[in-house]
Formats: sequence, C-alpha cells, structure tokens
Amino acid sequence: MSNQKLATNALHAGHDTTQTAGTRAVPIYQTSSYVFRDTDHAAKLFSLGELGFIYTRLNNPTNQILQDRLAAVEGGVGAVVFASGTAAIATGLLTLLRAGDHIVASSSLYGGTFNLLNVTLPRLGITTTFVDASDPDNFGKAVQDNTRAFFVESLGNPKLDVLDLKAISKHAKVAQVPFIVDNTVASPVLLNPIEHGANLVIHSLTKYIGGHGTSLGGAIVDAGTFDWTNGKFPEFTEPSAGYHGLVYSEALGAAAFTFKLILEGLRDFGGALSPFNAFQIIQGLETLPVRIKQHSANALALATWLESREEVAWVNYPGLKSSTYYDLAKEYLPKGQSGLVTFGIKGGFEAAQKVTDATKIFSLLANIGDTKSLIIHPASTTHQQLTAAQQEAAGVPQDLVRLSVGLEDIEDLKADLIQAFETL
Ligand SMILES: *Cc1c(COP(=O)(O)O)cnc(C)c1O
Repeated sequence: MSNQKLATNALHAGHDTTQTAGTRAVPIYQTSSYVFRDTDHAAKLFSLGELGFIYTRLNNPTNQILQDRLAAVEGGVGAVVFASGTAAIATGLLTLLRAGDHIVASSSLYGGTFNLLNVTLPRLGITTTFVDASDPDNFGKAVQDNTRAFFVESLGNPKLDVLDLKAISKHAKVAQVPFIVDNTVASPVLLNPIEHGANLVIHSLTKYIGGHGTSLGGAIVDAGTFDWTNGKFPEFTEPSAGYHGLVYSEALGAAAFTFKLILEGLRDFGGALSPFNAFQIIQGLETLPVRIKQHSANALALATWLESREEVAWVNYPGLKSSTYYDLAKEYLPKGQSGLVTFGIKGGFEAAQKVTDATKIFSLLANIGDTKSLIIHPASTTHQQLTAAQQEAAGVPQDLVRLSVGLEDIEDLKADLIQAFETL
C-alpha cells in the first residue's frame, strides 16, 4: 500500500479484510490476551522466534492496524500507539535515554511536555536545554557531549510558530542524535516531518487524528533512518539485559527503535492504548484528509476577520500575511495551517477571560482538534504554572485567547465572537 496516496492509506492501510472475516470496518479486538497453540508456540512468541500476539499491553490486532496506518500516512517503517500523547512522549524518551543524558528542545512546547522535560525528567537525571527555535543555529549551540535527542513541535501549541525543520535537522545530523518532531497540530495531512529530516514523529491522536473529542491516544512513528550504531546509543548495540541479550540494532535493523518501544517501553511502563479507543481513532483517521482542510479554511477565514475587529489587539495565524511565520508556513504548510488561531483582546488578562467566558458555540475546555469549536485562556489555565518569563518564551502573553476552530458554519462562529465581544 505504501505507494498509494495519503487519503487512500488513511482509509485502507494496515487492514487486510481477508484476515478479519471480511469485515469492511476495522473490528475491535476487545481481548486482553491470546490463546497459544501449545507451550512450544508460546515459547517461540516470547523469544521472538515467531511474531504474534501475546498480551494487549504489547500489541493487539486493532491497534496493529492503526499502527500500520499511521506509519503509512507519515512515511515511517513502523509506529507504536499509546494510551495518550503524553504516554507516547514519556515512553519514547525513557526508552531512548538514561540518567546523565541531555535533550535540546524548543522552548515553545505543549504545556505538559514542557513540564515533563523541565521538572520530571531532571528528577531522573535527564536534563533539557530549551532554546528559541526561531533561530535553528540555537540547537547546534546548545549541544553538549551528553546530548542524545532534539525535541520540537512542527507547529507549536499554542505559539503557532512554524519551525524550519530542515535547518534544525542538519544540526541534529551533525550532533548524531535523533530529531524528534511532535506533529500533533499540523497532522500528517498538512506536513510530513520525515520528509524534512525527522527521525521520530510524535502524535497526540486525541487531537485532529481522532478528531471528535471522544478518545485519548498517542503514537510514535519511526522513520527508520537513524543510525543507532554511531556509538552514542549502547542500549541498541549492546546485549539487552531486559530482553535476554537481544542486540536490537543487529536483530532488527531499521525497526530497532520500534521493537524496543514495544518489547521494553510498553512492557515496562504499560501505557497501552485500549482497542476501543484505537477503533475510535481509526474512524477519525479515515476522514482526517477532508476535515483538516476545512478546519484550516475556517481558521484562516476567522483569523482574517478577527484582524478587522477593533476589540482585537493582535491575531496570530501562520496563514496570515501579517504572521512572522508566513514564509515558513508557505514552505512547510502549503496545503493549510491547521485549525488553531490565537488572538489578543484589548484590555489584557481580564478582558481575555471575559470573552472566553461569554462564548456559546465555542466550548471553554482544555483540548484542541475537535470537530466542535473550542476556546481557552492559557495564561489562567494550561500555562498558569509557568513563570512570566516561561510564559513569554512559550508564546503565551496574558491577553492571549486560543481558538481551536471547528467545522461549524463560519458565520455562526463570527456571530458568537461578536456577542462575546459585546460583553466587554
Ligand atoms: C495534547 C498534546 C499533547 C499531549 O497529548 P495527550 O493525548 O493529551 O496526552 C502533546 N503534544 C501536543 C502538541 C498536544 O497538543
């Protein structure tokens, strides 16, 4: 299927109907475990002498179809799904790194990811240098002897900064570390980070891919392009104490990281995706190509309209000519810039809260990528734990309102914001 186009893969990749009793829909294999033919068969599965299903914490046929489909739409050699985007990021980094290792990351990251890197991983001896990602050279300058990964978001949430992925990937190549790109906001339809040098691609499937606000999920797609034998990653080149002496790079080649994520990451940290959620996310992925185009069109129309409103101090959307990121958006996101728009309200923190409280169609909640329109005031919610300087670096000024523009009629969305502005 790999030479078919993205919209076809989003509907078909990974599902051989002859293997699922002819079901046209992907079935939900709601089972925790799988019957072995006999003890020999079981022993072979446990020693990788034969590949097969053992226990749903490691794999499941419904999840496997989602994994193969995600690998196909992102252009990777494999993918692993998790209970949430956060489980994907945490398990991915803990599979890759050990105490004493160092990450170089963009300072404009999802709030949860920032906390993981800034507070929780340092407790385990893994430190991060956060850099201003608008200058790709900052990544090269922050590299240390113990640097083992670069981490960025292709379209930062909520700063909406578009990164020069090609330029940053060159610094990762020089440093001989994997370039990890969280592609949640852009989605695989608008941007494929692997084409621009990413080695691992992260998704919160909870957002645009699931798309309907029903289910949490996460994924890591492995490009299969990173050389784990460069001397910096003994976990991949020395016999694994955690998997009876398996040398991942020798036994599994380009799929070494994917297998380590399953055999050790899911086995030991346990953040497996429920097959029911995998089913829900598959329904979303099937229509992602048409939905994300409409999200993008609605967002651009609303951002353009907001620029004309006198209540509004500023508008940030990478598809606007006024955006700092317009040229990068033309290069990296030519098909659309996704559904997030941020804007500032004249009157600062209080006015931003007032407008956020007053919308009726836009729901006040902490999520993005739903078919329904969403609104939040990050400075008082998702980013309230950050210092003023960290808020500034993350692109979250006090007056910022974030919209996740849904698929409603654009005129109804404008009318909703007008009645909210009238409360000021
Ligand atoms: C939501 C989000 C995450 C975390 O995903 P969950 O599924 O909520 O755990 C990570 N990165 C980005 C960019 C996100 O928007």
